[in-house]
Amino acid sequence: MTQPLRTPVLIAGGGPTGLVLAAELSRHGVASLLAERNEHTTLFPKMDITNGTSMELLRRLGVDGELRAVGVGPEHSFDVIFAGGLDGPVHGRWRQPSVNEQRATLAATADGSVPGQPWQRCSQAIFEAMMMDRAHRDPLVDVRQGWRLQACRQLGDVVAAELADSDGNTLTIHADYLVGCDGASSRVRTELGIEMDGLKDFTTFALVHFRSLDLTNLHALGQFWHVYTSTGAVLIAQNETDTWTLHRDLGAEVDDPDPIGDPREFVARALGRPIVIDDILASSVWRPNAMLADSYGRDRILLAGDSAHTMIPTGGYGMNTGLGDAINLGWKLAATIQGWGGPQLLASYEIERRPVGDRNRNACLENAMVILQYRDMVAGGAAEVAQFLAANDAENLSLGIELDVRYDNSPVVVPDGSAAPPWDRRTFVATVRPGHRAPNVVLGGHDTLFDRFGPGFTLVDALDDNSQASRLLSEAARVGLPIRHLTLTDPALVALYHHRLVLVRPDLHIAWSGTDVADAASIIARVCGMGVPHDSCGLPERSGRHRTRALRCT
Ligand SMILES: Cc1cc2nc3c(=O)[nH]c(=O)nc-3n(C[C@H](O)[C@H](O)[C@H](O)COP(=O)(O)OP(=O)(O)OC[C@H]3O[C@@H](n4cnc5c(N)ncnc54)[C@H](O)[C@@H]3O)c2cc1C
Repeated sequence: MTQPLRTPVLIAGGGPTGLVLAAELSRHGVASLLAERNEHTTLFPKMDITNGTSMELLRRLGVDGELRAVGVGPEHSFDVIFAGGLDGPVHGRWRQPSVNEQRATLAATADGSVPGQPWQRCSQAIFEAMMMDRAHRDPLVDVRQGWRLQACRQLGDVVAAELADSDGNTLTIHADYLVGCDGASSRVRTELGIEMDGLKDFTTFALVHFRSLDLTNLHALGQFWHVYTSTGAVLIAQNETDTWTLHRDLGAEVDDPDPIGDPREFVARALGRPIVIDDILASSVWRPNAMLADSYGRDRILLAGDSAHTMIPTGGYGMNTGLGDAINLGWKLAATIQGWGGPQLLASYEIERRPVGDRNRNACLENAMVILQYRDMVAGGAAEVAQFLAANDAENLSLGIELDVRYDNSPVVVPDGSAAPPWDRRTFVATVRPGHRAPNVVLGGHDTLFDRFGPGFTLVDALDDNSQASRLLSEAARVGLPIRHLTLTDPALVALYHHRLVLVRPDLHIAWSGTDVADAASIIARVCGMGVPHDSCGLPERSGRHRTRALRCT
């Protein structure tokens, strides 16, 4: 019998979430084995917006430049047109800035209320291929394409998993941890017996992905990112030159076994105008869901991305949320494997990320309702429809969804006792309150404050008192927590960081902030996951290899 293969982390699924998780683990020096059932990356375009927050995270992985190079050029807008069809009439238009225009706005915004990076258009097919190439080049990622995870279980401190290829060969893997990034019909989730709850089979979409150079007809209403038609179609410009995707809503019940028929005719019918199509790249029928897993895993087997939450594409939250999961989980797994992370660290993953999955799932439904209402309103007055669309343009303009992610009840965040500021899906107010994303600003050119942060934790020092910072830094060094000390001198940055010491995690969220490091050991123990959660003053008691010390509630 062949010996099982050993790996610190087995990742099931090489979609965007699994690929980003592998890259994040590698950034922290942790090896993984990535098992992907298909021999190739996805052929379906799927995701086409990576938001600014995700771009900040991808920049930390060193991926942003390559993604922008393979994605849509920075001069093209993100405009969304609402119309009867490509012959019109036009009912409304959401004008949304190009990457270049966004860059100018971000550079001119010094209050931290926007991300440091512009968003990026790029189809998932291109994103995955690029990330998979990087994974193959990464010596810390053992990529196994064509291998499906078919069974897994935890045996004490080890996860045993069985992989199979299409010829019936099998491989046994022993891993410290397994992460199921295996999509909406996750095998890992099924093995764990975890249910999904929410809205299933919201509707049925017919998809035709095609190549066409017929810009005369495709751009009859002008350049666009998306065109929503009042007849239930959405046309997506994948690359501004020759690749397009049409989705048409067929309703919940579809009796016809071949609802697309001839894809060329289907496209012409849906858009109300014939298009010269050179190639049909893919055509299929799919059903969007808005579901959330009851749990994000058990002990050493965890779920991330679509295996934990599925979203209707309105808003483009699916992959962006999965990417947030992967980054949140990646450094926690690394810390646990490297020995400076305690048991609360992995326990915090679900506590922090499941509410975000829930919130984003609800927000994508709100976006979908706007599109449905638009279709219903078209029979009424044109002015009323235009007004409705102008007032309901939050689908891609929701800085609250993107940036205002807070981990209020986390056992690895030290609360500062302040009340939570109100949450608004459209806006973000920069804050150094623990649990929130740290503020970022453009410093000049393409550089941002986040570029100065370390790969691990960063102690952003906007406090004029060296002794306070040294206490935290020495305690971090004592427990092996990787940390960079970043002293701010620019008065505007010092003000942005509220004249405080701000301890920022590798995922750019604030673990602790304050002016008085009364008990460095307790702070560091808690953010490392060594502390006991939910104590009365928000600071942990010491446990494990740490001494127990009296706590001061300040
Ligand atoms: C039309 C459309 C448009 C979208 N637009 C956006 C957008 O603009 N922005 C956005 O953020 N999101 C968007 N999404 C959502 C996005 O596509 C998903 O959220 C994203 O693919 C989730 O990534 P994932 O890696 O978690 O799962 P998946 O992409 O589903 O990847 C799972 C991977 O696991 C593999 N796998 C499955 N089972 C096994 C197994 N047993 N063993 C090994 N491998 C396995 C699969 O082959 C697959 O490669 C869109 C989706 C659609 C359908």
